[in-house]
Amino acid sequence: MHYIIMDLEWNNTYARRIKGFINEVIEVGAVMLDENLEYVDEFSRIVRSQIGKKLRGNVKRLTHITNDEVRHGEPFTKVMSEFKAWIGDEENVVLTWGDGDIRVLIENYRYLNGLQILPFLTNYMDIQRYFQIKKEIPKSKQIGLFAAAELVGVDAEDFAHHRALDDSIMTAECMRRVFDKNDFFDHIVVCDDAFYQKLQYKPHAIGNINHPLVDKSLLSFTCDKCGTKGEQLTDWRYGNQFFRANFHCPVCDYDVRVAVRFKKYFDRLETKKNVSIISNEKVKKGAD
Ligand SMILES: [Zn+2]
Repeated sequence: MHYIIMDLEWNNTYARRIKGFINEVIEVGAVMLDENLEYVDEFSRIVRSQIGKKLRGNVKRLTHITNDEVRHGEPFTKVMSEFKAWIGDEENVVLTWGDGDIRVLIENYRYLNGLQILPFLTNYMDIQRYFQIKKEIPKSKQIGLFAAAELVGVDAEDFAHHRALDDSIMTAECMRRVFDKNDFFDHIVVCDDAFYQKLQYKPHAIGNINHPLVDKSLLSFTCDKCGTKGEQLTDWRYGNQFFRANFHCPVCDYDVRVAVRFKKYFDRLETKKNVSIISNEKVKKGAD
């Protein structure tokens, strides 16, 4: 088993054919570890830009890659076929810090080669996600690679920041520090059709109240002071991801605004319900 820890540098550029912006890969770096997490080999290539003519200022500043280097790089297709050959036939897992690099690669393959899948990819793991689980960092707070390195005592100063190979070596160091054979393998995913569908799925709020996933029982209000079922004052209106309606508790005599969101993810539905009191103040003021 080989671990392929990969990192990319990319340049955001306008792509005429799709009339939109694309993150064009300009550098591919990777380090290969064996099953004992020992260093085996490394891979580093600059990719010749085919979509963008010039690197953005922030890319030049961060990476220190120059326009001249990118002009003299190898074409994307050649780099990726060399990468596939370098990975070889040994069973492997490709790991990246967050899944952004994988998304960018899919975008590049599609634009430049017309391919919908990554030919070198059989097993994948988001090592940032695993790192956060092991370090008990909530999903909502994504930790950057340098912060992660510091957290586990890897001296980030030893690395050339924002260069693909150095970032991949630093990622490998972070992986070594949190690797736990008891749960590591549970986080490896097979790159089948569902993998690509899930990766490209755009989570969205459901806006049609008659959608089968809309649980009508949540579109209600029960007063938490007295337990009475509230009277609905207004129709449900959808806007800004939420269905909203006003309710009244006849016992306690106050009004609330109820907001419910049904958010669809690839393999789950997330519901959120907010209740806020709207009328107590108004009622009092009106009575004065
Ligand atoms: Zn009540």
